[in-house]
Amino acid sequence: MINYIEKYFCGSQFSFPLQEACSKANISLDAHQLKALKRIREKITNKTYKMVPNFCLCGHKGNEIIITEKDRFNLSFDFKLCKKCSLIRTDPVFDHRSLLDFYRDDFSLLHRGKVDAIDKHFLKMLPRGESFICLLKELSIIDNIENVLEVGCSAGGNLYPFSEIGKKVEGYDYDLYYLQYGRSLGMNLNEGDFYENIKLESQDLVILSHVLEHFIDPVKEVNKILEKVKEHGYFLVEVPGVLDIHRSVIYPEQYFQNDHIYSFNEEYLKVFFARLGLKILYSDEVCRFILEKPRGWKSVQIKNIYSDSLFKKYEVVEQYIKKTCFLNKYFPIKNIKRKIGSFLRRKGVLKWKIKIKK
Ligand SMILES: [Zn+2]
Repeated sequence: MINYIEKYFCGSQFSFPLQEACSKANISLDAHQLKALKRIREKITNKTYKMVPNFCLCGHKGNEIIITEKDRFNLSFDFKLCKKCSLIRTDPVFDHRSLLDFYRDDFSLLHRGKVDAIDKHFLKMLPRGESFICLLKELSIIDNIENVLEVGCSAGGNLYPFSEIGKKVEGYDYDLYYLQYGRSLGMNLNEGDFYENIKLESQDLVILSHVLEHFIDPVKEVNKILEKVKEHGYFLVEVPGVLDIHRSVIYPEQYFQNDHIYSFNEEYLKVFFARLGLKILYSDEVCRFILEKPRGWKSVQIKNIYSDSLFKKYEVVEQYIKKTCFLNKYFPIKNIKRKIGSFLRRKGVLKWKIKIKK
């Protein structure tokens, strides 16, 4: 009955594409971010940043719902929910060259504002690294891990708690400014691509935190990472789960950003990692995954990733987004409570609730 009422009220109140983002940027931006935004708009208009189509990972074309036509910065990008597999993708996206230029020249300034706010950025990452350690302890596998590699480590905020408990840490990223901050704290953080520098099957744990959603070819990139993980070693992945939007933003449109090539949910990622031959030790809707690389694992080249278990899952995503809009509009108090909870967790006053699925 409650489901029916929610479906009726939320469905009749909100329709796609969502329009909130159309008038102005939904988030408050500082002067540095506004400058970056203006520059990006110019590069899109004069085609310095070029667009290419982006097809769904399940191989399906068409039959999708456009959730919003603007991203969180009010840039014009379509975010499409695939009715076959429930994955949301940005389509079209910047081509490979444009994405590299975007990450080098505009990404940090657009998302984080003036670059000297690095202390704040690092402190924000620490609780996440601590929550990873909690998860590994709950699974009783932390003692199996001696070395930890993070791909896309930024300033090393996720790795720092691991180094504090005596693990050997190493990180790779492209932003030297952020890397230098972590280096000054004694961590081994390197500029560039990990692949040429890390030996095959040498890592007990590889972390990929808020990176998978940026990959144009996630199957290829994950295979490359898994080559570096030891047999029975672990792969820890976190992405901003689509069904966890209510915890991080006020309006669902604020979640979408152009450089998120795919926006994942837990059910789709379960299929994704299972097809890549991994054992799932833990997952949640946040979406955090702890995976084990089985003995004899081989790189799997798959063109399309889909399972019948995803049939009609798109309706869950569609309904969740509408419900989030509905609750934000009519019950803002819940949103304020969530914001306070999230703030206190970031400050370390509240701990992340961790449930282990056996
Ligand atoms: Zn699909």
